Amino acid sequence: LVTARHELGLRSETIRRTNLASIVRGLHLHGPLSRSELVTRTGLTRSAIGALVGELATAGLVSEERASSGGSPGRPSTSVRVEPLGGAVLALEITVDSLAAGVVGLGGGVIEASRIDRVRGRFSVEETVADLTELARDVRARAGADDALIGIGTAIVGMVRRRDGFVALAPNLGWRDVPLGGLLTAALAMDLPLSVANDADLGALAELRRGAARGARDLLVIWGEVGVGGGLIVGGEPLTGAAGFGGEVGHLPVNPAGATCGCGSVGCWETEIGEGALLLRAGHAPGGGRAAVDAVLREAASGVPAALSAIDDLGRWLGVGLAGLVNVFNPDRIVLGGLFGRVHPFVAGTVRSQLQRHALWPSRDAVHVVPASLGADAPLLGAAELAFEPLLSDPAGWLVARSAPAAAVA
Ligand SMILES: [Zn+2]
Repeated sequence: LVTARHELGLRSETIRRTNLASIVRGLHLHGPLSRSELVTRTGLTRSAIGALVGELATAGLVSEERASSGGSPGRPSTSVRVEPLGGAVLALEITVDSLAAGVVGLGGGVIEASRIDRVRGRFSVEETVADLTELARDVRARAGADDALIGIGTAIVGMVRRRDGFVALAPNLGWRDVPLGGLLTAALAMDLPLSVANDADLGALAELRRGAARGARDLLVIWGEVGVGGGLIVGGEPLTGAAGFGGEVGHLPVNPAGATCGCGSVGCWETEIGEGALLLRAGHAPGGGRAAVDAVLREAASGVPAALSAIDDLGRWLGVGLAGLVNVFNPDRIVLGGLFGRVHPFVAGTVRSQLQRHALWPSRDAVHVVPASLGADAPLLGAAELAFEPLLSDPAGWLVARSAPAAAVA
């Protein structure tokens, strides 16, 4: 009997923690909700919601304010919202063209963020970590929210082992076997949990939670810059593979007679659709970065033939690769981000005709191809979501850990 009662106690504690998590996550992702909306969303009673919200308010994670009753009779409803400084995170991003840092509050609002173009050739691990640390210091100083920080999330254009933030390979940075998680933790010296994940995976996470992919269950996010990354969501869950290296769609071999890739192979998809290929075909130097791509887009808009044909080539190869992915994954949505989001208005027709030609019709007819809606910062926002995850998945457990003496944690 004692054991049974103990188990019952454990079970109700688990349910309480699950309910707290669903309230915090709901408010974080969807913004303020009334108590009645929380009742509807969670299926809990009004008094249970009252008690749980009270607990979260005491902990400083949410606040309540009286909202107007909207003219309807009865008591005025109360609007519950997350406190942005109840737990803020530091988000970092390392790409080939730029470094970015941001402080993001609970609820996803960006408190302060900054992106700097990288100096070409300043790609060594030491220089990158030093530059990113300095950028983070500036952004933190402007945000003035260090006391609220609960974690650090990092996005990088490379293959990352999530467990410890180890970058096995970042071909376009020339990195191999870099213990980035440990290096950043040491350089930032902030005594906060730090996680690292692939840029495109985090862009996909952000688009899924807050952008063009909201509500999708089977989703491909294709992210193009110098390299090409993919975030694959299958049945609502990210496809990571055994060690977290999955989803490297940029290195699908598509053209055995093509160019050498940064990964060492030949004719990978990114050698046909990456930034370098676009710039070369349009008659620009391949290393020109974002500004050079903008120049090609301006030329295309004004009808310059080389720019138009370069973009058309990109659209054709983009469609061929997407057709293969559609046949394998049968997604309901494809989100084009980064470079592909920017060229989308020019290539939408070509991509569609390539899908018509190469994708199997039962899969093809169900798929919507849309540009990303969060812009260049999607991976940075995804890095913030990664850093929020321990709090979102178990706020009660997280609060206990936070209140534990630092010595006990260490
Ligand atoms: Zn490759």
